[in-house]
Amino acid sequence: MAGNIKIEVVTPEKSVVSEEAQIVMAPGTMGEFGVLVGHTPFFTTLKMGVIKYKDAKGEERCVFVTEGFAEALPDRVTILAEAAERRRDIDVERAKAALKRAEERLAKESGKQDMDFMRAKIALDRALHRIQLAETRRH
Ligand code: ATP
Repeated sequence: MAGNIKIEVVTPEKSVVSEEAQIVMAPGTMGEFGVLVGHTPFFTTLKMGVIKYKDAKGEERCVFVTEGFAEALPDRVTILAEAAERRRDIDVERAKAALKRAEERLAKESGKQDMDFMRAKIALDRALHRIQLAETRRH
């Protein structure tokens, strides 16, 4: 079916993306999925990763998202996540500082499998994803 789909990426703080897209790809917990206009409605959880979409002009756009949810309807896809940033908005120095803090915490908690250890591990994953995505920015 021809036409664009509306993509919305929303966090508790803000609307990160609200625009028309030709196609949206997202990291579902059951695997990566793609949504085009006219898609059968579905709802899924998302793992931490990158939402990729082609905007109305066909430019590829990337958005980092933490774990969250996605709802696809025939004319729109809505992503709800704890945090999200467009690739161009990622502050690499901040992510590197967060990575260092997480590594230090993990070293201190080494061997434990408690909540602090898990939190530090997830913070480390966030920082690594942000750095990796930012590194694919065109200069
Ligand atoms: P930090 O310790 O630097 O806050 P964090 O992983 O704990 O990192 P989050 O809790 O995931 O941060 O996000 C808090 C807010 O800050 C969100 O609005 C998120 O989009 C933003 N944010 C976090 N890190 C970055 C970054 N490196 N660049 C841009 N925005 C960021």
